[in-house]
Amino acid sequence: MQIYTEKDVDVSALEGARVAVLGYGSQGRAHALNLRDSGFDVVVGLRQGGKSWAKAEQDGMTLMAPSDAVKDADLICLLVPDIAQKPVYEAAEANIKPGAAVSFAHGFNIHFDQIHPKEGVDCILVAPKGPGDLVRRQFEEGRGVPCLIAVAQDASGKARDKALAYAHAIGGTRGGVLETTFAEETETDLFGEQAVLCGGATELVLKGYETLVEAGYQPEVAYFECLHELKLIVDLLNEGGLAKMHEFISETAKYGDLTRGPRVIDDHVKASMKQVLTEVQDGTFARQWIEENKNGLPEYNRMMQEDLDHPIEEVGRKLRARMSWLQK
Ligand code: NAD
Ligand code: MG
Repeated sequence: MQIYTEKDVDVSALEGARVAVLGYGSQGRAHALNLRDSGFDVVVGLRQGGKSWAKAEQDGMTLMAPSDAVKDADLICLLVPDIAQKPVYEAAEANIKPGAAVSFAHGFNIHFDQIHPKEGVDCILVAPKGPGDLVRRQFEEGRGVPCLIAVAQDASGKARDKALAYAHAIGGTRGGVLETTFAEETETDLFGEQAVLCGGATELVLKGYETLVEAGYQPEVAYFECLHELKLIVDLLNEGGLAKMHEFISETAKYGDLTRGPRVIDDHVKASMKQVLTEVQDGTFARQWIEENKNGLPEYNRMMQEDLDHPIEEVGRKLRARMSWLQK
């Protein structure tokens, strides 16, 4: 697999481009600021008075309604929430000029057939593999979050070059840019956040915490053990994989890891992961999520409240209040 870096970029693909960033949340703000710092003429499309309007104004962005922002734009970055993208795109579509590129940071709506970009425009993906605040912070520090790029529709014959030039402008080539497809990005991204990163990691923490507390240990001790310390391990993995983690943990921890880890995350867990992946691949998850939104998010809100009411949250708030450095 080829990893693209600065030397592979054809900056002429987006030279002098006018960019419309629609949405100014986690990704939108980071992309808009990085693109502006890279010399692009950026306008931001938002609902007047929406919750990030003031923030964009503070950052000195030129603001207008999404349908106006796309007029004359050469690159349109669709960075409103996935579920809001279809109506926002459809309302703006008539104003998008031929030869422009419409870009996504996640392939959901293209892969699951919700948005059909009109003929004559490029449809590309530039997906940073990290949250927006990191995309901005690393860019400012001269680093960059790695990005995936893909092309779904190539009207100009330059779609791929545009994607790479865009990834470069937000810092992606510093960390490395990989080429993928909308299908691969969408399915792996959904699986990752469900099974490992968000869903898997939080459930692992909660089940570990509950096991210790139910066995009579102090909740504060269980919190430090199962939640607080996870960061140290994750940082080691992030910096140097399994080898670096093993370098820094005790011999006893290593033996416990090797003998007990596979018993906890066992073949049953892997079978469940495969089931979760199947539901991503066959569209079951996407249909369910779209339907839940149409119904006004009743199940989502109920489960979110349940998560936030877990006793670990109360214990965590108390302990974190003593560590002011965590708050920044
Ligand atoms: P977000 O929820 O942080 O921000 C959404 C922005 O869109 C806000 O500014 C909001 O005010 C605005 N908005 C919402 N509805 C709107 C509407 N109808 N019209 C105009 N503006 C509207 O979103 P996000 O997490 O940055 O996600 C944007 C895209 O980036 C999604 O496709 C997501 O999958 C992708 N992505 C997100 C992350 C992440 O870390 N958050 C990482 C990679 C990819
Ligand atoms: Mg959870």
